[in-house]
Amino acid sequence: MNDFSYSKRPELIKELQEDHFDLIIIGGGITGAGIALDAASRGIKTALVEKHDFASGTSSKSTKLIHGGLRYLKQFHIKMVADVGKERRIVHKLAPHLVLPEKMLLPVLKNGSMGMFSISIGLKLYDFLAGVKGDDRRRMLGKRSTLKEEPLLPPERTKGSGLYAEYRTDDARLTIEIIKTAYQYGAACINYMEAKDFLYENGRVSGIKCYDVFSNNSFNVKGKHIINAAGPWVDEMRALNKSKKGKQLFITKGVHLVVPKEKLPVHHSIYFEVQDGRMLFLIPRDQVTYIGTTDTPYDGNKDVLEVGKEDATYLIEAVNEMFPNIKLNLEDIESSWSGLRPLIYEEGKSASEISRKDEIFISSTGLISMAGGKLTGYRKMAEKVVDKIAKKLSKSAGKQYPKCLTLRIPLNGNDFKGSREVAVYIEKISKVLAAHMIPEKYAPYLVHNYGKQTDRILKALDSFSDNDPEFRLLNSELSFCINAEMVCEPLDFLERRTGRLYFWIGTVEKYKKEILTTFKEKFAWSDDQFENQERILTEAIDRSRQFN
Ligand code: FAD
Repeated sequence: MNDFSYSKRPELIKELQEDHFDLIIIGGGITGAGIALDAASRGIKTALVEKHDFASGTSSKSTKLIHGGLRYLKQFHIKMVADVGKERRIVHKLAPHLVLPEKMLLPVLKNGSMGMFSISIGLKLYDFLAGVKGDDRRRMLGKRSTLKEEPLLPPERTKGSGLYAEYRTDDARLTIEIIKTAYQYGAACINYMEAKDFLYENGRVSGIKCYDVFSNNSFNVKGKHIINAAGPWVDEMRALNKSKKGKQLFITKGVHLVVPKEKLPVHHSIYFEVQDGRMLFLIPRDQVTYIGTTDTPYDGNKDVLEVGKEDATYLIEAVNEMFPNIKLNLEDIESSWSGLRPLIYEEGKSASEISRKDEIFISSTGLISMAGGKLTGYRKMAEKVVDKIAKKLSKSAGKQYPKCLTLRIPLNGNDFKGSREVAVYIEKISKVLAAHMIPEKYAPYLVHNYGKQTDRILKALDSFSDNDPEFRLLNSELSFCINAEMVCEPLDFLERRTGRLYFWIGTVEKYKKEILTTFKEKFAWSDDQFENQERILTEAIDRSRQFN
């Protein structure tokens, strides 16, 4: 396997400078990643540049669900719900270790806006549109069964519930595995490389001017077609191209809070209605439960996002109101994140009413911009836009490109035949961990993050001599992520490759100095670089639990 590591950077830069690409993608979030894999697997010569780390934009800040979007049914976005709903099972098959079936409980409450009948019909339609079959189909539960499923619900308000199928994932891991798979197909994907401007020939875009964040060098990359998949920054790129006309982005912010499982010990993922009529998720993961999300218009700094006190308090109060025995307060929050939705503006609609449908804009100079959409629909979004490119390339090159192939391309780490095999593999990994004195709780963590690549991480354990087994595991993981996942900086590893900053923040604090020291050695940092990275990491930890 061709490793995807920082040591490959000079080679990648040479390729970017010297080759002429069929397609250049700006943005390494899920949209750009999906397009890169679709295009490269069809034989289209593809480059992808990401100005920060892969998935550092919205694609590491979502609710991390692969879902059809039940609430969009209420708004009659029937086709979108059907399309995205069907994708859930496909994405699960492409990465069964990373896209996990998750039953969602939707309580029917006294004084709620939805009754048993409307929820029953709504969920039935939801299943029907997505083609959900067998045991996965929704079940309606009476009051007693609901309280048995979720004893934390208030008996006096609970009338019953609907239990239905969704999937849970890690958005940033999904993005990096797609990028790695695209790289295996020959796509030149690089992080910390910003598209600063466009190149033009005869009035058409013919490339981009890139800026290498690490070396401060700039160079040109030539390409026949350019896709702007810059998420919340799509309009900035359109402005550079002087094509920010007509439809524009409407950015909304959504925040999530993480609390220890013992503070909010829900048995299930729960989707519940709050007093103001909005819907919130509670999702148990590893040793925590996370709560989300808000949806408010945003026009601040897109590069540094904070969770405001007002948003945090709103979510905490909503949980306390739903579960009177749970008395959360701001001090209980272990971590948090905030993400921006790149939605397409619709006159007269509020943040939560705006459609999550994806759209493509093509400028007069040929720049293709793609925005809107959902994490869940990344594969279909990619297919739609790559079909267009393949058609154009076929015309100009007289060569036929195949139809979309990604339906049958398992993502990196997936050597499983389905969920059952994943469960068996977790058991096997638990035993290996026990033999190394590493707590077994790391088995699902490792397998859900890395799939079969866990073998490689565990094989390297013995090369680390530290007495602390958890630290040996962390080091082995870090070594894998540097060698095979293009980790360049501590937060690439701690936030986006492992999710530790959100879900295992205690380990980040405990091993912070040691991790920084390992980076210093591996990347030959100067003392100044060390101090700078220490500051960045400390600020990220502080930001995740300070609310202003
Ligand atoms: P991004 O992930 O933001 O990627 C764009 C990338 O472009 C960024 O990494 C950025 O650094 C890069 N970039 C920008 N400018 C340049 C440049 N000049 N040069 C190079 N690179 C550049 N969807 C679901 O399906 N399920 C969910 O549960 C879900 N929950 C959500 C919850 C919240 C709070 C939010 C905000 C969104 C949620 N979504 C969900 C939607 C989903 O997360 C987004 O649709 C998706 O992540 C957008 O991906 P993207 O690649 O378009 O944008």
